[in-house]
Parts: sequence; C-alpha cells; structure tokens
Amino acid sequence: MKRLLFSTALATLLFSGCAVQSTKSDKAQECITLSEISEQDIDYDKYFTDGTFRFDFHHYGDCNSENYAFDGMKLEGQWAGSHKSLINPFGYGEQLFRIVDTEEQKVIYQNGYCTLFNEWQTTAEAQKTTRSYPESLIFPCPKRDFTVEIYARNKKSKLFEKRYTYAASIGDYNIEPFTPEYEAVDIHIGGSIEHSLDIVLLPDGFTAEEKEKFMTACDAWRNALFAYEPFTSEKQRINIRAVWAPSKESGISIPGKGEWKKTLLDCRFYTFGSERYQMTSEFHKVRDVAASAPYESIFILTNSDKYGGGGIYNYYGLGSAGKTGKTGEVYVHEFGHSLMGLGDEYVEKGNTVSEFYPADKEPWEANLTTFVNFSGKWENMIAEGTPIPTPVSDSLLRLPDTQWPIGTYEGGGYLEKGIFRPWPKCMMNQLYDFCPVCQAAIRKYLDYICK
Ligand SMILES: [Zn+2]
Repeated sequence: MKRLLFSTALATLLFSGCAVQSTKSDKAQECITLSEISEQDIDYDKYFTDGTFRFDFHHYGDCNSENYAFDGMKLEGQWAGSHKSLINPFGYGEQLFRIVDTEEQKVIYQNGYCTLFNEWQTTAEAQKTTRSYPESLIFPCPKRDFTVEIYARNKKSKLFEKRYTYAASIGDYNIEPFTPEYEAVDIHIGGSIEHSLDIVLLPDGFTAEEKEKFMTACDAWRNALFAYEPFTSEKQRINIRAVWAPSKESGISIPGKGEWKKTLLDCRFYTFGSERYQMTSEFHKVRDVAASAPYESIFILTNSDKYGGGGIYNYYGLGSAGKTGKTGEVYVHEFGHSLMGLGDEYVEKGNTVSEFYPADKEPWEANLTTFVNFSGKWENMIAEGTPIPTPVSDSLLRLPDTQWPIGTYEGGGYLEKGIFRPWPKCMMNQLYDFCPVCQAAIRKYLDYICK
C-alpha cells in the first residue's frame, strides 16, 4: 500500500479480488484494541542495556493466512532510539510487536510496522500460492529473559490479534554478537543519537569504484529532505549517516527487461509486476548492512537513473539515486511512508473498492479518513465554517496555497470516493509540499522519537 505512484495495471492486479475470508484466528486469537496501547513509564536502565537486539523470522502464508517462523537472534551496536519513548502509542501499521519481561510479565517495548508480505497478500499471485519473506525486529537489548509477541490486524475488524510468541533467554548461546562490517560516514549530524531521528542511507548496485557517486547521492538525499517542511526546520533533531557497502556489479536488476545484476541487497524493479515499484525482499541482508551505523530508519539508494522506488512503514524506504525527473521529491514521498506510515493521498481513476481502505473502517494513517472515527484525526485543525466534505475547484487551486483551507477533500488512498484527505495537494499525492496535517503529524512523531 506504500508503493510509489503505481500504475493502474498494478492496481487492477492488486485489487482484483483476494476475497477476505474468516480464518481460524478470527475467534481464537487474543485481540488488543488501540485504547489498550498506551504509553507507560518504563525505567530504561532497569530493563535494557545500551545495545540493540535483533530478532529475525520469516513471515509466510497466502492471501488469507499469515504465519511466522523463527530464524535467529543477534546483538547489534548502540540502541539509536529514545530511552523514554518505548511504547509506541500511535497505532500505525498493519503489524505490531511487543517485548514482555518474563519475570514481571510486563510489556517493556512496543512498536508498529508494515511489511512487503502484507502487500504481497493483496496480489493475484497470493491467491494461487504461498510465499515467505524474511522479516526482522529491532529493539533495545533486554537485560533479562523476555518474550517477543507479534500481532497482526484482523483483515475484517482491523483490530490487532496476537499471532506469534517466542520466549527468549538472554543467556542463549545462539544469540550472535554483531561485528560492524562496513564503513559508516556522517552526512548530517543534528543532535545526540538518543534524542534525534537517526536515518541510515544504504547503497545498492554501486561497485567499489563508485563510492564517490554514492556519497554524492547521499548529499542529494539530505538536500532533498531538508528542502521540505517540516524537515527544513527540524534539522537539529535529525542525523543522517551512510554505510558504504559495495556491490559486485554496477546497476540494478530490471527483471521485466531481462536485465539482472549481482548486487548486495538484491533490489529490483517490477516488484509485484509494477515496473516502477523498486524494492528488495532480502530484508535480513538490509539489516546486516544497516547495523554498521546507529539507526532507526533505513533508506536505500540504488544505482539507477530509472524512475522508481517504494517505502513501507518502519521497514525501509528506497529510491533511485540517478537524477532523473523528480528524484528528490520521490525520496521525500517514500520517506513519508517509511518514517511514519503516511498514507498515499492520490486517487487511482476508476478505483472504487480497496482492501486497504474498507469504507466501514477508519484508516490508521494520520492523513486519511473515512469519517468512521474522524475525531482522532485532524478535526481540530479545521476552521469553523469550512464545508465538510470540502469542495476543490480550479478557482481554489489558482489561489496561493496559503489560502487553501484545511478540510476534508474527497479522494485518497487510491480511491475516488468515500475517503478524504486534508488538503487539495500534498507530497503524499502530487509530490507537492507536505500538507499542514502531514507536517503536524511528522512533528508529533519526531517529538516521540526524539524524547
Ligand atoms: Zn498530506
């Protein structure tokens, strides 16, 4: 759902009818509601070391079912996240995980995320076969034994259900210590690791001789991000580092054109049949490379001039490093997805039904509403007297954008009707400036991350 401006052809493929059926889990699984997901005071030093714990698994299934299988555990470098914000309260994401202290049976860490697997579940292929994707969680390293709990949203109710648990012993000799493999380079340092958003930029498809080219691309990525509010005025709360990790061959695989490259992260175009949807399914490898720098958010720059990319919440963002067309804007659009799960505000013409956004459920994304539960969204930012829904006209668009009212404009989340966005234009639809609602949501998220 976090794909880059994908084609109508892909939309047809994606929404062509993976009928959502009840699964065994509908009744049997333990549900948690968003009201139970609240911030608590956790004494970081009591429960955690300064390190990062990594839990690897495989996420597999078909269009109707999802399961998880253990893969391994690693101890990585310094924890780059906040020592205060340990229970993510936003309710963003299709998946959620909790770390529970065994001795006290207390939730000591919680975060939400989305996955490529969940997007694959909506493709026609998922109706015919099962498929497995490597996935991975990172969290501050617990001092004592703990349980990893993974929750997924019920496809009908959209409530989180507990789907998987793994009891980990901190003394387990299978926990692999991490040794940084690659060089980390500072691109922009705004503040301390603990109180800043730490972004890591990773290369794919750059050979050992192309280090300069990658570093230039990293500077361009930084400049693109800081060209847009709210990031322009939040520089002091953002750190950007690059990890230099060369590939064997130069360029990126384009399977639909028969072009294949041996690259470190195996990024490729034509994900789920969409030429422009450029992603990798090798997420464990992505984590291996990222761990050479302290990080909370991953963005991959590929050595390609071809337009394309993607971004998935708390997973990774990706964009072509080549300077073709609107490269900078694409970076920032995808980062909006990968940082905090902002929804796409654009419309796929003729698209009337979406498995992602059923009409009777409120989207979890901060910048979309179906009016099922609008009070939790941007209602308090709308001036009195603004018509709801808010009409958009050519004469309105001819006015300076400072005169556009914050409202509820119909169309968004790939749908023409029944779903509403806050402003006529935004980075999340037309690669315009972020709308005031997206800007406010990003600032609020940075407040949480940088606490
Ligand atoms: Zn927006």
